[in-house]
Amino acid sequence: MYRSHTCGELRESHIETKVTLSGWVQKTRDKGFVVWVDLRDRYGITQLVFDEDRTSSKLLEQARSLGREFVVQVTGEVIERSSKNPKLPTGNIEVLVDEVIILNESKTPPFTIENETDGGEDLRMKYRYLDIRRNPVKNNLIFRSKVSMEVRKYLSDQDFIEVETPYLIKSTPEGARDFVVPSRMNEGQFYALPQSPQTFKQLLMVGGMDKYFQIVKCFRDEDLRADRQPEFTQIDCEMAFVEQEDILDSFEGLTKHLLKEIKGVEISAFPRITYDDAMRIYGNDKPDIRFGMEFGELNDVAQHKEFGVFNSAELVVGIAVPGAASYTRKELDALVNWVKRPQVGAMGMVYAKYNEDGSFKSTVDKFYDQEDLAKWAEATQAKPGDLICVLSGDANKTRAQLSALRMELAERLGLRNPAEFAPLWVIDFPLLELDEETGNYHAMHHPFTSPKPGQLELLETDPSAVRANAYDLVLNGNEIGGGSIRIHDRGVQSTMFKHLGFTPEEAEAQFGFLMDAFQYGAPPHGGIAFGLDRLVSILGGQETIRDFIAFPKNNSGRDVMIDAPAAIDQEQLRELSLKLDLKE
Ligand code: ASP
Repeated sequence: MYRSHTCGELRESHIETKVTLSGWVQKTRDKGFVVWVDLRDRYGITQLVFDEDRTSSKLLEQARSLGREFVVQVTGEVIERSSKNPKLPTGNIEVLVDEVIILNESKTPPFTIENETDGGEDLRMKYRYLDIRRNPVKNNLIFRSKVSMEVRKYLSDQDFIEVETPYLIKSTPEGARDFVVPSRMNEGQFYALPQSPQTFKQLLMVGGMDKYFQIVKCFRDEDLRADRQPEFTQIDCEMAFVEQEDILDSFEGLTKHLLKEIKGVEISAFPRITYDDAMRIYGNDKPDIRFGMEFGELNDVAQHKEFGVFNSAELVVGIAVPGAASYTRKELDALVNWVKRPQVGAMGMVYAKYNEDGSFKSTVDKFYDQEDLAKWAEATQAKPGDLICVLSGDANKTRAQLSALRMELAERLGLRNPAEFAPLWVIDFPLLELDEETGNYHAMHHPFTSPKPGQLELLETDPSAVRANAYDLVLNGNEIGGGSIRIHDRGVQSTMFKHLGFTPEEAEAQFGFLMDAFQYGAPPHGGIAFGLDRLVSILGGQETIRDFIAFPKNNSGRDVMIDAPAAIDQEQLRELSLKLDLKE
């Protein structure tokens, strides 16, 4: 028996008990006549003591020889500590050791296995198994497991069935590139790894499963943006005989359950906003509503004066930044430079201070008098003491820029409180999105999403006006879930493919299996998928999803620990009928 107790378990009630513990040596302190060793496992730390009076000199020597991260098994008696450590749950006791067995030695770890480590990101990723021994990473993984368990519990209680769907499949379009896997047995042919189980979950509805969920890996070969992983986990769900309202209800239920069980936060009904309103008020389809700073459109009050920049703009729009009228000239210049950074891309910024005495001072006083500026204040809901920041230009771009500024300022002003949770449904998304480069439309959600009732005809005349039965769940400015009511009619689905630029042959070749299934009594259905990695990180009060993944990839999509991806040898290539010619 390796252990009678864990290293986090012993208390005063165990005093005088004989125990066996196993774990890693966190550190040794040698005072000459006495040696203390901190023994660590997943559950905690227990102090071991060896001293000249009660320990043989051989054992004392052995204690001194223990290096950091040695794996040891010790037997001894639980005794009361003379100097107690109130910070440790086991801090009132220690174990007076009478036997040590070294189960395995350890090289000196490349970084300290402590809450605050001296290891840089790269080193910690290379030795991720050591990083996992540290509390912050370990606790995140335990937290993730708890969230997954709660998801399973809630959905099972609601009669959802967890069904596994295959990983070796054919392309599922979710807007990214596929990772492909060559098939040895089918020369020259490839599987695609699922970008999501979308088509399979719809087929499960045709199969009568009624309520499906799966906590499942998805794979998307995208250019990596910060904090995206090429493989990630979804809580994937689908329901039959439902309308949008039923889905919103069910998954509001799941989200409330998680917030309550995991964070102890109770939230009543989630607010809803249409996509159009979200873009107009926040310049963003995943607005953070923990704070205000809503957009005020200023075209009516700021155009038709002498200021050419505004007159020629499609949109003039501003926000009131709380308390920022006191910013110094230097701070304001820095802010103007911030919006001009290429990542934001504004040409410049006009601002007006709404002074505490009710007067205004702006960078465009030449063109706008106090009365004009008072109208700006009204439109942006500014109060005395606020700073009104105004951007102008092409409507879409300007909204995106002001949204970036809004988020940045909220961050700086400490308005993005990780302990506060503000969920929001964004509904009525456009069905299609115009690709500015190619001039083609593509599905904003995915091609299986149904248009709003009665809008199918609009596809012919005004495709961008068609709204979809699609919704996103946003939490604290992050999209944590998205889904739609699906098309379940073969005719409608082929019309949809036609508008997305598929020939009937292409549609048949790629999605014939789904359209065939629709001919055998496909029920109306819809669903949603949550990004588990992001959900867990937000619930955990942190923004980086990598910290909640046991073995994440780095920003170039590499696993630096196992060194993947990697080349494969000629023999393997030959077996797969693949020829690599990098010169081509
Ligand atoms: N398959 C979709 C996605 O991955 C989710 C859904 O529509 O249910 O975003």
